[in-house]
Amino acid sequence: MRRLMMQSPIAIALMWIGLFLTFTLVPLLVLLLHPVPDQRNFWIEFSVALGFIGLAMMAVQFVITARVNRIEASYGIDILLQFHRYTSLVAFFMVLVHPIILFIVEPENLQFLNFPQAPWRAQMAVLGTLAFLAMVVTTIWRKPLKIPYEPWRAFHTVLAILALGLGFGHAIGVSHYLSLFWKAVLWSAIVLVALWLIVYVRLVKPWMMTRHPYVVEEVIPQRGDVWTLALRPIGHQGFRFQPGQFAWLTLNITPFSMREHPFSMSSSGDHPERIEFGIKALGDFTRRIKDIEPGTRAYLDGPYGVFTTDRYWDSAGFVLIAGGIGITPIYSILVTAAERKDDRPFLLIYASQTWDDITFREEIEALKEPLDLTVIHVLRKPTEDWTGETGYVDKELLARYIPLHRGSRHYFICAAPAMMDQVERALFDLDVPVTNVHMEHFNLA
Ligand SMILES: Cc1cc2nc3c(=O)[nH]c(=O)nc-3n(C[C@H](O)[C@H](O)[C@H](O)COP(=O)(O)OP(=O)(O)OC[C@H]3O[C@@H](n4cnc5c(N)ncnc54)[C@H](O)[C@@H]3O)c2cc1C
Repeated sequence: MRRLMMQSPIAIALMWIGLFLTFTLVPLLVLLLHPVPDQRNFWIEFSVALGFIGLAMMAVQFVITARVNRIEASYGIDILLQFHRYTSLVAFFMVLVHPIILFIVEPENLQFLNFPQAPWRAQMAVLGTLAFLAMVVTTIWRKPLKIPYEPWRAFHTVLAILALGLGFGHAIGVSHYLSLFWKAVLWSAIVLVALWLIVYVRLVKPWMMTRHPYVVEEVIPQRGDVWTLALRPIGHQGFRFQPGQFAWLTLNITPFSMREHPFSMSSSGDHPERIEFGIKALGDFTRRIKDIEPGTRAYLDGPYGVFTTDRYWDSAGFVLIAGGIGITPIYSILVTAAERKDDRPFLLIYASQTWDDITFREEIEALKEPLDLTVIHVLRKPTEDWTGETGYVDKELLARYIPLHRGSRHYFICAAPAMMDQVERALFDLDVPVTNVHMEHFNLA
């Protein structure tokens, strides 16, 4: 019973939301402990409370994005990053409303916007808010602004440190609620923990990765402009993973550079001595994979992710829905199931552009022998003699293949965002319980 409670998604969600609220509200409540400075107008106190909550929420973002396995394992990185986006926007709103209320209630505060004349505490507030604004703008409009991912990520980190540091400096400078030594110490500790997490992610973790290097063993061309990159651990055991999980890959450069990319493992989770990735040539980094020489150094940070059939050991079988390169985690699920002699039924609905584009086509065909596997290929650009499924994976197509007793299976979808949305909606319309549907998004930002 206890185990069920702990594993129920609602119980886990409530637990994390409770922790989030605790970490954002308790530091504020501590400021109200005796002795409390003189009370001012309600709106001023309200605005100050918003400022402090905004600051605490900012600090919590450093925890959310620190790849803490325990938090990540509850939800998966995409949901965590969505949470990060939305709660950061709430924090930004609070930080923005905080001075607006002060300007309305006491218009003489507007003089603090005269930057050269303003005291340092007000200058810090202005600079911190501008850093936060820049962070929000460059994140929401990164693609229209054509900011490449890697520089954006570095810039995002610097802006986050500035926004938090300057916001905290402003609170110390105002020295109203933080005039008491132990309250200032508590808030300093919160900010220092947040900044320590950046040091951990940027320095400690990369240093740990240098002690567990890998070497490229092979680069194998696959159908559909995809290359399998096979890595072997050197001087250590590698890691086991649950099929469907992913890792951050750093290739041919030091892990301190933080130029790492997430890829789902495509090999068996039970073979840490050879870890494979199926990588589609799409951008700067992925187009270079085909030219990587065997012997090249690599580093992995992982495994991460909750997109795995291993979490549903009691499922009667699985429906796997892949589009294009979304096949990689699903292929790992199938390969691992075959090795483990899993005798449950697997249905794979696999959308590709053409028959020749189907990544791992022959390998998947071969898995029909050891597995109870049904494969439905769906082609967007079929040849005239193609008699199989064509077009989009929609409600009608799914209804033809998924079991009548919808809740008896767990459904795993990995594809381009538009296909994932369409399939998710279709499954919902077909009365598949939402708790049975699991998705992996390849576009984090
Ligand atoms: C959980 C997960 C699993 C993935 N598994 C696979 C896989 O098995 N096979 C595969 O081919 N692709 C996979 N991807 C996608 C892969 O990470 C991106 O295609 C790759 O990072 C693009 O890098 P690029 O420089 O070649 O392309 P770019 O043109 O530079 O980037 C294209 C887009 O990819 C994303 N991206 C780029 N760099 C990074 C980065 N360092 N970190 C995060 N996102 C980035 C951004 O959204 C960017 O707009 C996965 C992504 C995620 C999130």
